[in-house]
Amino acid sequence: MDQRRIEALGRKCLTFLTAALLVTSCGKKKESLPIEETEEIAIVEPEDTFEFGFNLNDYIVKRDTVRSGDSFGVIMERNKLGYPKIFQIAEGAKSSFDITKLQIGKPYTLLCSKDTLQEPKCFIYQPNKEEYVVVNFQDSIHAYTNRKPVTYVEKEVAGVITSSISETLEDLGISPRLTFKLADDIYAWTIDFRRLQKGDRFKVIYTDKYIDDSIYAGIADVKAAFFEHNGEPFYAFEYETDSIKGLSDYFNEEANNLRRAFLKAPVEYKRISSRYNLRRRIALYGNKIRPHKGTDFAADIGTPIRATANGTVIKSAYTRGNGNYVKIKHNATYSTQYLHMKKQNVKVGQFVKQGDVIGWVGMTGNTSGPHVCYRFWKNGVQVDPFRQKLPAAEPIADSLKTSYLAFIQPLKEQLDRIPFKEVPAEEDVLFENSDENLISQAH
Ligand SMILES: [Zn+2]
Repeated sequence: MDQRRIEALGRKCLTFLTAALLVTSCGKKKESLPIEETEEIAIVEPEDTFEFGFNLNDYIVKRDTVRSGDSFGVIMERNKLGYPKIFQIAEGAKSSFDITKLQIGKPYTLLCSKDTLQEPKCFIYQPNKEEYVVVNFQDSIHAYTNRKPVTYVEKEVAGVITSSISETLEDLGISPRLTFKLADDIYAWTIDFRRLQKGDRFKVIYTDKYIDDSIYAGIADVKAAFFEHNGEPFYAFEYETDSIKGLSDYFNEEANNLRRAFLKAPVEYKRISSRYNLRRRIALYGNKIRPHKGTDFAADIGTPIRATANGTVIKSAYTRGNGNYVKIKHNATYSTQYLHMKKQNVKVGQFVKQGDVIGWVGMTGNTSGPHVCYRFWKNGVQVDPFRQKLPAAEPIADSLKTSYLAFIQPLKEQLDRIPFKEVPAEEDVLFENSDENLISQAH
């Protein structure tokens, strides 16, 4: 057993111990503890346990989740606090925390006095895994929001495709999010993941996120990847190109962008119900020519509509013909427009990234069925996006190229060092870094 495992086991024992102490001191049932765990408890010395910035051993700790019908008042009353006091706390805390905003199913913790009264001294509410709100009323009343410490752990994985990328990653015990990142984000334009070859292989350097050092919170980020498809190598390195807008992208070893500037379609569509056609004739109008300058993508009501490229929203409005629609200006040359939305999800002036959800498919305005009418403007003229040679997304600016190449060099060397096992034995394909690097730690 390696040192980490032993440490982890040690932590587990400690957790059991703490849990046992809490259960006992809260006067709840004890019989649910399995015997072997009780045996472990006898050996381990009691230690201070800190959570939410408190030493839990100083209190009787009661944990529960917000139930239907619960309010701050109801919870406090259930825990033997009187109404004048409850009102006083609510008033005192309200500038920093709105106690009416408790959500059903979210966990909370009560720190109670360690005497027979067990009077609540502190209420801690967790709206999500990372944040917690403390309403402290042991002396004066004050409330504040804090974050649990988040740790990022860098990991490596390598695999050889036997059937599909998702199956291979599942066999390796890796979150499906990595499949999504590789197939729909990083390599969406360079590799068709529905046409992978047996023997295609990959290596990825990614970071896992942990809250409070122990709760796994999923893959945070992919830093670099290598994919060999049909014997061709495809490198991808994440690099921040605009720190002000928080934009980062994936580039290859020659600093070329792996993305195309525009998505092929703004929705996952069932069919193209009408193409761009300047000579369309419509029976309803006596077979007169009614040009259609958009492309209609039929999709179910409520399907997310995505910005096909980075840009700024210049219109988010309603007209009788267009219904609810959004128009995005991408640069001096290109704009796109999305009609008949059920509802918009963006405001004028907002910056959107390619793939951001800007609204949902509906049938507002002049339309007979649910679809998005997608209009593509080039230099102020509506054109057929399918006939355009769409530009590749911008390569790295010349001013950044030198620092980019310096930045990726150690990453590329690291990728190249990750070994493949040519004949993977069922469980042995995973090459996880045995000495995981703690790369950053933040509060
Ligand atoms: Zn249309």
